[in-house]
Amino acid sequence: MALELSNDFLLLIVSSPSGAGKTTLCNRLRGEFPGLRFSVSHTTRRPRPTEVDGREYHFVERDVFEQMIRAGAFAEWAQVHGHLYGTSLHEIEVARATARGMLFDIDHQGARQIKAALPEAVAAFILPPSLGELERRLRGRGTEDEPTTRRRLENSKGEIEHYGFFDYVIVNDDITRAYEELRAVVYAERARRHRHARLCEKLLAEWKGR
Ligand code: ADP
Ligand code: 5GP
Repeated sequence: MALELSNDFLLLIVSSPSGAGKTTLCNRLRGEFPGLRFSVSHTTRRPRPTEVDGREYHFVERDVFEQMIRAGAFAEWAQVHGHLYGTSLHEIEVARATARGMLFDIDHQGARQIKAALPEAVAAFILPPSLGELERRLRGRGTEDEPTTRRRLENSKGEIEHYGFFDYVIVNDDITRAYEELRAVVYAERARRHRHARLCEKLLAEWKGR
């Protein structure tokens, strides 16, 4: 991926097993940090009643998605719960030109691909407090039919197995507390030394010029 991003640009990946609460947490981040542009993925799954094309996802047919793969349009893509999902290079280009950072709601396969291409990306994994609670939340959301719900619950093991890849793990027991932790990650990452190298060098140059 031939993308040059400035060193103060924050790339934040949020992943979790389905139902753990990452969409809820990401929506709060989107509200609080408009400069952190949400990466709107492409997907072949059907929209849920509350979802708007272009806001949660770009909803496309499989042949369109496959054509995009062949055209090299994706920064990463993966098959998740039987559907195709991907981050277009275009999303990253637009964010680079217009925002201070980017928020990715993608699975562990996508997280690995983004980190391989952009190693400065930061990855946070959201965990449910228990499997029983994960199932309650997934069923309580009421967006999936029974076979899909079961498939997503079965896939949660495969997702949790990848926790070792992530930089941060946040347990979403109480949503307010979990969100405080996630925003603390944003603040901590913004304060990283390498993001401020330019200002440090500028101050030093000013000092020399005195
Ligand atoms: P994901 O995006 O990880 O699949 P969602 O954000 O859609 O998960 O959350 C799944 C369901 O759980 C939603 O109905 C959401 O309102 C609810 N939920 C999220 N976080 C909590 C929490 N801390 N306590 C109770 N319910 C929660
Ligand atoms: P959902 O169908 O619940 O919106 O998302 C299902 C899973 O697909 C979630 O784990 C979500 O993070 C993941 N996902 C969403 N968009 C992308 C993407 O662009 N790439 C990858 N690799 N995973 C994605």
